[in-house]
Amino acid sequence: MRVAIAGAGLAGLSCAKYLTDAGHTPIVLESRDVLGGLVAAWKDSDGDWYETGLHAFFGAYPNMLQLLKELGIEDRLQWKDHTLIFNQPDKPGTLSRFDVPDIPSPFNVIASILRNKDMLTWEQKIRFAIGLLPAVVRGQKYVEDMDKYSFLEWLKRQGVDERVTSDVFIAACKALTFINPDEVSATILLTALNRFLQERYGSKIAFLDGSPTERLCSPIVDYITERGGEVRLNAPLKEILLNADGTVKGYLIRGLNGAEDEVFMADSYVSAISVDPLKVILPKPWKLMEFFQKLEGLEGVPVINLHLWFDRKLTEIDHLLFSRSPLLSVYADMSNTCREYANPNRSMLELVLAPAKDWIAKSDEEIVAATIAELEKLFPNHFGGDNPATLLKSHVVKTPRSVYKATPGSQQYRPAQVTPIANFYLAGSYTMQRYLGSMEGAVLSGKLTAQAISEALPVANSSNLQTLTRPPATNAATA
Ligand SMILES: Cc1cc2nc3c(=O)[nH]c(=O)nc-3n(C[C@H](O)[C@H](O)[C@H](O)COP(=O)(O)OP(=O)(O)OC[C@H]3O[C@@H](n4cnc5c(N)ncnc54)[C@H](O)[C@@H]3O)c2cc1C
Repeated sequence: MRVAIAGAGLAGLSCAKYLTDAGHTPIVLESRDVLGGLVAAWKDSDGDWYETGLHAFFGAYPNMLQLLKELGIEDRLQWKDHTLIFNQPDKPGTLSRFDVPDIPSPFNVIASILRNKDMLTWEQKIRFAIGLLPAVVRGQKYVEDMDKYSFLEWLKRQGVDERVTSDVFIAACKALTFINPDEVSATILLTALNRFLQERYGSKIAFLDGSPTERLCSPIVDYITERGGEVRLNAPLKEILLNADGTVKGYLIRGLNGAEDEVFMADSYVSAISVDPLKVILPKPWKLMEFFQKLEGLEGVPVINLHLWFDRKLTEIDHLLFSRSPLLSVYADMSNTCREYANPNRSMLELVLAPAKDWIAKSDEEIVAATIAELEKLFPNHFGGDNPATLLKSHVVKTPRSVYKATPGSQQYRPAQVTPIANFYLAGSYTMQRYLGSMEGAVLSGKLTAQAISEALPVANSSNLQTLTRPPATNAATA
């Protein structure tokens, strides 16, 4: 069966990969001239890569890890020491580590928290552990119910004092969702904490060994095309054409550079485009349906990714760092962490600026200047003194609408992959799956969509999707 998939982000590509395995012929139609959506990357005129986002992979990403294995490229992940590293703003240039020992979970994470002496007092640690108990004992149902609270409200209800928020969780919220604890749904942090507590290597971090476009997306495209599928760039979905019964008749693809629009017909149709553009192109009759009306409750959150090349090495740390800066979220010296970006003499810092709503409209120069000012606190030895590091060049990538904004109450608006339209499906990290707006969530959503299509349109003699790595669903919403 031919399946048309709009969007070549990780969700669309994963959906196509698993449809291929099920014996279908996917045709992916991507509006831009680059693969990957939010993981897209470009090479500049010097041959240096710059990316939409600094991307960290976690041990708690079973579907992503399985996908890499199936593609034979799992060695492209460069695993780092099992630790989480935070800057200490009140002691510029110093770091605080949560080193996770190699013992079974949850004792490994608990030991890392107990052994950290810089960031939390004993009383705070005990209060937080007690506060977390219901999430651990009552599981995902409790975690989903907590979507009515912001993470800050939840902490207060559990009697955890504000310093825990400022010390640890502002950094975690900004890293996971690009917003602060007073805005983010408690479900998000509790879900992540639960995964980290339940899986021995859940919080272990890896970086890809090069650009996601070339090292992750291209092998998926090769896999699909070698088996008869297709991935077309510069093919924007302009309109969803309907039959008289409201099902999809075809995808109208906008002709670029004076070319005529094209009607693309298939047996089944998937939208793997982000939720904001999807809302715009939904056919009018569908907009009256409750299922699609709920999408109005979802909206992409702004974020900015910076790349700064310096004339010297600023650090030897080969890991992700939580800046705990009001302006920045996480950062890494990619000249240490990523094989293809390696440079023994010069640093390339990749930094995420979040929350970005007050910065997204500012000029690149203003954004870079504000970031350099923050670097004085992160690397005091290299900035502000007699011989400050020189910025050689920079790239700023702004994404006004990235992953869905995970505010309290937003879980109820996340749609299932199966829609009320018989031949139309959704994929994307914003759709309902338990890995939130992440690469793992995108890959899992694509897999779930492929599975649903294969169930509706079985193909004789196909290898089916028995390889699904789906955590047991605790309720329909988390399937
Ligand atoms: C700065 C940043 C840092 C991040 N860090 C991490 C991290 O460390 N770890 C992690 O797990 N996740 C991270 N993420 C989140 C992760 O990148 C996303 O959750 C994931 O890539 C989303 O994939 P997707 O396929 O659901 O959506 P998208 O990547 O948004 O893909 C949608 C695709 O649809 C295309 N499209 C849009 N409109 C049309 C149209 N009309 N016709 C055809 N195609 C269309 C788009 O061009 C795009 O290619 C980060 C994201 C950002 C922005």
